Amino acid sequence: MNESILNEIKIFLREDQILINEPMSRHTTFRCGGPAALFLQPLNKDQLIRCVKLFKDGNEPFFLLGNGSNLLVSDKGYDGCIIQAAHLDDISLEHDTQIRVECGALNSAVASFAKENALSGFEFAAGIPGTIGGAMIMNAGAYGGEMKDITVSVTAIAPSGEEVTVSGTDCEFAYRTSRLKREGFIVTGALLKLEKGNQEDIKARMTELALKRKEKQPLEYPSAGSTFKRPEGYFAGKLIEDAGLRGFSVGGAQVSEKHCGFVVNKGNATSTDVYNLICEVKKRVLDASGVELEPEVILLGNFS
Ligand SMILES: Cc1cc2nc3c(=O)[nH]c(=O)nc-3n(C[C@H](O)[C@H](O)[C@H](O)COP(=O)(O)OP(=O)(O)OC[C@H]3O[C@@H](n4cnc5c(N)ncnc54)[C@H](O)[C@@H]3O)c2cc1C
Repeated sequence: MNESILNEIKIFLREDQILINEPMSRHTTFRCGGPAALFLQPLNKDQLIRCVKLFKDGNEPFFLLGNGSNLLVSDKGYDGCIIQAAHLDDISLEHDTQIRVECGALNSAVASFAKENALSGFEFAAGIPGTIGGAMIMNAGAYGGEMKDITVSVTAIAPSGEEVTVSGTDCEFAYRTSRLKREGFIVTGALLKLEKGNQEDIKARMTELALKRKEKQPLEYPSAGSTFKRPEGYFAGKLIEDAGLRGFSVGGAQVSEKHCGFVVNKGNATSTDVYNLICEVKKRVLDASGVELEPEVILLGNFS
């Protein structure tokens, strides 16, 4: 770790915001992964921007973490700095139907806020267990909705280091990706446009979708949701099932018995188990169907 950067950080972050060799198994929904050499928890936008600037200017590796719900970190860890923006979680009403959210706000909290204010349009995201930052980067979506539909603009640190506001259109949202992801923007917040609705209807829709998730998804085990993107014209889960891989395991990682699109941690999986399982599933699905699966899950660190 670059000592001069660490000394600079100590000027504006408290000791308890700076963690050394922090196990990433504590910060990913897969519940596995080795240590981050440095792990920072800024409390506000100003601190986040200062951290990012130091690493950019020093040309040192860093990674923005949301809720770690789409992330597999190598067992060897990450030899750089992970910046977690969980404390930047303000949510406020702006105009009648617009909500301003900071990047670390959880989708579930935004959904509750929208419901409390009788605003409809965010129900689809209530059960996506990530932050607004991760949702914008990934263009998170479910049950016919996606971030693309409701994003007026995103505030971000551009690759140049400049603070910018990017319109929803200029975010170039596409299936589980965005220009923000492609070009490496750091999302600090977003402005969302919803519609006036009926609170009881909003609540009912959220309950209905939560039940659907519980019924179809293996929520009882740690995972990162759908492991693979949906290949054009197919469903990843069906291809995996047809290749005979329901319940297929490597170490503690398993293709879920309940939903073949999910790789789950049965209790003691390492990231290497998960990674090797992903590679084997890709290979066997390609052999069986000729379709190449692409992981949706982001890999961080060295897996070779
Ligand atoms: C049980 C379960 C169900 C799921 N269901 C769905 C679903 O229905 N639909 C769906 O789309 N996804 C789903 N997911 C996957 C995941 O929740 C989403 O991809 C989510 O948007 C990731 O957000 P996160 O904050 O956890 O991001 P992380 O996993 O922490 O990070 C994901 C990527 O976003 C980047 N990132 C995070 N915050 C920022 C920021 N502020 N600035 C720049 N980059 C940032 C990270 O660097 C990384 O590249 C599911 C996951 C689980 C575990």
